[in-house]
Amino acid sequence: MSLNKKSVDDIQVAGKRVLVRCDFNVPLKDGQITDETRIVAALPTINKLLSEGAKVILCSHLGKVKEGPNEKESLAPVAKRLSEKLGKEVNFVADYNVTGEAATAAVAAMKEGDVVLLQNTRFRGKEETKNGEEFSKELADLCDSYVCDAFGSSHRAHASVAGVTDVVRAKGGECAVGYLMQKEIDFLGNAVENPVRPFVAILGGAKVADKLNVIDNLLEKADTLIIGGGMAFTFLKAKGYEIGNSLVDDEKLDYCKEMMAKAEKLGKQLLLPIDTTVAAGFPNPIDAEIEVEVVDADKIPADKEGLDIGTKTAEMYADAVKSAKTVVWNGPMGVFENPVLAKGTIAVAKSLAETDATTIIGGGDSAAACNQLGFADKMSHISTGGGASLEFLEGKELPGVAAADNK
Ligand code: AMP
Repeated sequence: MSLNKKSVDDIQVAGKRVLVRCDFNVPLKDGQITDETRIVAALPTINKLLSEGAKVILCSHLGKVKEGPNEKESLAPVAKRLSEKLGKEVNFVADYNVTGEAATAAVAAMKEGDVVLLQNTRFRGKEETKNGEEFSKELADLCDSYVCDAFGSSHRAHASVAGVTDVVRAKGGECAVGYLMQKEIDFLGNAVENPVRPFVAILGGAKVADKLNVIDNLLEKADTLIIGGGMAFTFLKAKGYEIGNSLVDDEKLDYCKEMMAKAEKLGKQLLLPIDTTVAAGFPNPIDAEIEVEVVDADKIPADKEGLDIGTKTAEMYADAVKSAKTVVWNGPMGVFENPVLAKGTIAVAKSLAETDATTIIGGGDSAAACNQLGFADKMSHISTGGGASLEFLEGKELPGVAAADNK
């Protein structure tokens, strides 16, 4: 998709203070980073700005920060790892106020090619509240121009994602998107707006309600829409099948009927499970050993719960992927966290890994499943943003993209 927005290639940054909103929301265990993907993904934009002689000021959120600022959610480990990756010092401003005296002093002391990392933006309380306006201004005061490279946060109109851009622009600065944002939007945008056909979209995960607009939008864009996971059972019930104790959203039965009618009207294929793997109940703990059987989708016993697509369905879905030229996948086919119930998700992941189609994985659980099952490097693109990629697939404009200057 040609994005009519300025990128880091379109702005003048030499000698300027450039604030970059990154997504450094990395998983941590005992203060150690367990997956550095998001740090590595931010490097191209940072290196480009450094090579042009910018003063690079980085900011990001980390974790949920439910109980206020705390050392466990400090960006200190990110500063250390980033410094190793860049091969240069990253001056970390540990102040819980994020902006303010310490940050201002650190930025004032910067020379061209220096890097400063601010503290976790969520330490300032809810970025989206009134407090957000003050925070937006303080962030803008630290810089001349702004780059958003935090795809994973770009669906939120927060101070450090969108609010700051109004203030930067008002004082004559430029606002652009970074390389990571551009890559994500190119992949997702091309798939949805300009796909090489056949275009197959696969949706799974727990609830229909979470993906209402995605189903609706993708039915229009894709040639085939495949439904698996917990959300399939609401469709099966809408078809009049017994679904036992399977996950269901009774309020969405009419919606599912509407979607099935819409598929027929548009001449699209809407594939639903023809068989399902059932058990006496949801595994507890989730990876507990569990006894299962595979039954036809219209023969689910009233006292059983469907927890994965069945073998025939897995084959049917893999077949549909084989003839595709573009595939977008969001949401597991079953309770993939349990080895016995991961078979459907593995079969689908494998079919994506084997096709030469462009394969795009929405972030979140489907990305986790691809990583966990060892298929990650076989996919064309794994999105770094679960929520953001889902909103993109819904056809919504992302605030973090909208906030950049038009070209
Ligand atoms: P989501 O966040 O909507 O993508 O949902 C992902 C979650 O859905 C995973 O934790 C899966 O365990 C769960 N899930 C997938 N299939 C089922 C199912 N048939 N019944 C209950 N939960 C499921």
